[in-house]
Amino acid sequence: MTDLTKLGVAAIRNGVAAGEFTAREVAEAFNANVAAAAALNAFIVTTPDHALAAADKVDTDRAAGRPLGGMAGVPIGMKDLFATQGVQTTAASHILEGFIPQYESTVSGKLWAAGAGMLGKLNLDQFAMGSSNETSYFGNVISPWRRSDGGNAALAPGGSSGGSSTAVSAWLAPAATGTDTGGSIRQPAAFTGITGVKPTYGRCSRWGIVAFASSLDQAGPMARDVTDCAIMLGAMAGFDPKDSTSLDLPVPDWAGSLNADMRGKKIGIPREYRMEGTDADILKSWDDGIAWLKDAGAEVVDISLPHTKYALPAYYIIAPAEASSNLARYDGVRYGLRDLPEGAGLQDMYAATRSDGFGDEVKRRILIGTYVLSAGFYDAYYNQAQRIRTLISRDFENAFKDCDVILAPTTPTAAFALGEKSDDPLAMYLNDVFAVPASLAGLPAMSVPCGVNSQGLPLGLQIIGKAFDEQGVLNAGLAIEKRAGFIATPEKWW
Ligand code: GLN
Repeated sequence: MTDLTKLGVAAIRNGVAAGEFTAREVAEAFNANVAAAAALNAFIVTTPDHALAAADKVDTDRAAGRPLGGMAGVPIGMKDLFATQGVQTTAASHILEGFIPQYESTVSGKLWAAGAGMLGKLNLDQFAMGSSNETSYFGNVISPWRRSDGGNAALAPGGSSGGSSTAVSAWLAPAATGTDTGGSIRQPAAFTGITGVKPTYGRCSRWGIVAFASSLDQAGPMARDVTDCAIMLGAMAGFDPKDSTSLDLPVPDWAGSLNADMRGKKIGIPREYRMEGTDADILKSWDDGIAWLKDAGAEVVDISLPHTKYALPAYYIIAPAEASSNLARYDGVRYGLRDLPEGAGLQDMYAATRSDGFGDEVKRRILIGTYVLSAGFYDAYYNQAQRIRTLISRDFENAFKDCDVILAPTTPTAAFALGEKSDDPLAMYLNDVFAVPASLAGLPAMSVPCGVNSQGLPLGLQIIGKAFDEQGVLNAGLAIEKRAGFIATPEKWW
């Protein structure tokens, strides 16, 4: 029998519907892989029973001839930023350890309604702040990938959705949810050779997702290929009256409309993304992507996004500013951890809880965010950053007069080693340089695997689209996927 854990979303769903195997068999196979992969530390908690119960329901529905949902029989990993009813939800922070939500996030609820089951809650950077998964209170995730040229360094799976990227690339799950505030779906997808989509801001409801930076946060799928992402995004997206920033638009049939024919399409190549410090392998992969899209019939045009160099500093003001406000709610009263030293008053309890409960990177962001919002500095930093954000959005609006989608690298380098950048926040932040402009502009963007570097590590190409044009992004991604022929997989060592 085929190894069911090598199958993706579409293959599992179709195989279950056709009766080639049962949803229970699929869930059991993935549960076994999850249980055998503790060395990767991809999960904070595992929920094999949830996966089995969901699978049994699908098998029963099928036997009774009832209609099956778009994700029927597909067990997935759930980033531990999504509130899941009755299952601990921590955002990988000590301050939320032991927090058991009494409600389900809209996105996870939609996935269960579509027939998916949950294998467990995936590790991440604490409060989704980071690019390597090293800020998690529950220990870092280890990428299943290793460099081919000797040197057995443990590599970062990317962040913040590093548990998600690891679970999918190590066959612990056919797909996983991610969230992307400034690259957290795209960068880990690129680092691990999988596909990840950040939809237009507002496509997926933020209700029940632990908030990091509310004007940027967006959920999206991470899976083995473009089709699987399109299917899963269809199940995740949709208007939600409980999120005031949710888009009140119909959800298109992205998977059903996939089309890799690029004839008549224009692909923009932003000249400002040719940055110093970008790896030669990455630049080569970008050239490959250009050639593939031309081969698919597209016309390639040079475009300019002149304010690109200000995007990273603006992001690292706006995101911490919003985080400092969002994280004010963790005070020892309402959720999770409470540190109440002997004889302490209320203020002492706040201070003790927050200093014990938050990790260093989270504290750094709260400090920066509070500083840039403080009366004397608000104009100099926060307002200025907001103005830059407007200019960046305008850059994209102008560029999209001349092209349909934009092609760029996802990251400036392939995966780095754990520990390599963890003492240098600026070096870590620089990793997000290609990802944050689309985040600031709220645009849909994806990363699709395009090859490996000289050390055998995966590289991703990024496609950025116009607002609401996920279809254009997915189609260009599919055109690349078909030509890249990416088949590299990590060698199993765990
Ligand atoms: N790496 C970025 C940061 O640390 C992005 C994180 C994210 O998208 N959640 O803020």
